[in-house]
Amino acid sequence: MTTSKKLDKKESSKLTVGQGGHLHLLTQTIKRFSDIFSKMGFEIASGPEIEDEYYNFDALNFPKNHPSRDMQDTFWLKPENLKKLLRTQTSDVQIRYMEENQAPFAIIVPGKVFRNEATDATHDAQFHQCEGLVVGENITLANLKGTLENILQEFFGKDVVIRLRPGYFPFVEPGLEVDMVCFKCEGKGCPSCSHSGWIEILGAGMVHPNVLNAGGIDSRKYQGFAFGIGIDRVIMLKYGIDDIRRLYSGDLRLVNQF
Ligand SMILES: [Zn+2]
Repeated sequence: MTTSKKLDKKESSKLTVGQGGHLHLLTQTIKRFSDIFSKMGFEIASGPEIEDEYYNFDALNFPKNHPSRDMQDTFWLKPENLKKLLRTQTSDVQIRYMEENQAPFAIIVPGKVFRNEATDATHDAQFHQCEGLVVGENITLANLKGTLENILQEFFGKDVVIRLRPGYFPFVEPGLEVDMVCFKCEGKGCPSCSHSGWIEILGAGMVHPNVLNAGGIDSRKYQGFAFGIGIDRVIMLKYGIDDIRRLYSGDLRLVNQF
């Protein structure tokens, strides 16, 4: 038995004075993105973390039994015949939102996603994404690039130079990897950017017509772009945090710094 004295009510209330809690850096960042996007006219949408295979894969143009499904190591839930999973991406909400809403619209979906993979400094089994989806008439890649530049500029608080490279995601065509000039070396090359001068920051692309159609949107009339920002990734870049697991460890030395 320990003999430590229990705090009486008076003492415990004293302790909380001046020690008020504050929002975790992840929550702060999600709020920050929500504010930035809201100002640009985006609506904040959400969806379930326990998802159907249909919304996570089928409707997003992942072909059945195609290796692209293995790109995302999935936590399948039991019983397996129900085909329920922990969503591997916030893109599931694209279809859910399109089913309920008419174009044009612009949404973001910040939320938790899950991957059944070994953890290391840059991978964790749970992390956060911020999906973006804009659907309307005459939407082009130029709209996508301009939007991303604005958002990143606001978030990082300085001029941001990005470049687009081809990338593959089943739900977009063309698909793009978006790189940002490394802000440690400003493009000169350093260990953080593997001496390339660029840092991969998000995936994006023009919404595949099959995805629009699956959501009940006429792909002959409307186009769209989509992007997925890795919230944890941009936090690590902005604040110089070298291990994603620190964000989930509850370590007060980190929590109290922000
Ligand atoms: Zn660099």
